[in-house]
Amino acid sequence: MTTQRVTQALALFNELKQRKKGKLDIWSHINCLVHDTPASHPESVFRFTSILEGLIEEKSLWIQQAKDIDSAIIHNFYSKKYLLQLEAHCLSNKPYFQVADNKISHDSFDAILASASSAAAVAESLLNDKMAWSLARPPGHHASYEQAEGFCFINNVALAANIILQQKPNAKILIFDYDVHHGNGTQDLFYKNNQVFFASIHASPQFLYPNSGYEYEVGEAEGEGFTLNKCGNIHMQGRVWLETALSMVDEIEQQFKADYVLISAGFDAHKQDPSAIFDVQDEHFLKLQDRLIQYANKYAEGRVGSILEGGYSLEVLKRLIPKMILKMKDTK
Ligand SMILES: [Zn+2]
Repeated sequence: MTTQRVTQALALFNELKQRKKGKLDIWSHINCLVHDTPASHPESVFRFTSILEGLIEEKSLWIQQAKDIDSAIIHNFYSKKYLLQLEAHCLSNKPYFQVADNKISHDSFDAILASASSAAAVAESLLNDKMAWSLARPPGHHASYEQAEGFCFINNVALAANIILQQKPNAKILIFDYDVHHGNGTQDLFYKNNQVFFASIHASPQFLYPNSGYEYEVGEAEGEGFTLNKCGNIHMQGRVWLETALSMVDEIEQQFKADYVLISAGFDAHKQDPSAIFDVQDEHFLKLQDRLIQYANKYAEGRVGSILEGGYSLEVLKRLIPKMILKMKDTK
């Protein structure tokens, strides 16, 4: 990224930080800028700058800088060995970590921690009975305990769920993932768990990475029945996507009344996404979020937090994310 663009992004971030805050928390971290991927890579820093550009245009929105996560909090949940290896790879200027599409740069570890810090801040907001968003990169839902993949290094949403469980050991948490790719890392981390219900709507594993998330994957041992996967074929229409997702929430409601709701908010199911997999449009994302907020209001005292996953159309990120936040802000 050019120095001029970095300066511009810093200025936007600082202006957003100064703005008057409202009743929900909008977390991020300036170090999301320092994860430098090659120009052709979809998970680019321009995703982050586009979100800042979208927020700046909406005068009633702002950003809060998350405080740096204490490494003990991550180690509580995550492999220490893995994190040390990841940091060492970044600092030694290796081109990628574990798999070729997980590009890294010298300072990527700082961005990975920034993204984790922002997710941890969402957990704290929910523990304080607030709603929240995390607008950070890199994303996390493909990462598992000692596995980076699909542009993900630390599973941010899983980390947030774990922080809640550390403080509220009996809590029940719903993670709803609407990214077009199956949240395989999140599923793996909670597959045998009956306190965290993982639900995902995504493109069929028969044709799309990560080739998991079949509807017969429902959890194991104590976790059996606490994983719900629904798949769609190529160009799934937004109306059908929404109907399917809403029926999932209805189904979850029958058996699982969560105390906390976390959303893995990926926007690559959008019709305008360069991946061109599904045909979902702005209104469908907004309506699904409404339904999840309604669920959270009914069972979880409104404690709902969205954590950014994928979504590679810069135009969609810039336009839709402010709309999603405004809608959440006005709902409660
Ligand atoms: Zn995705």
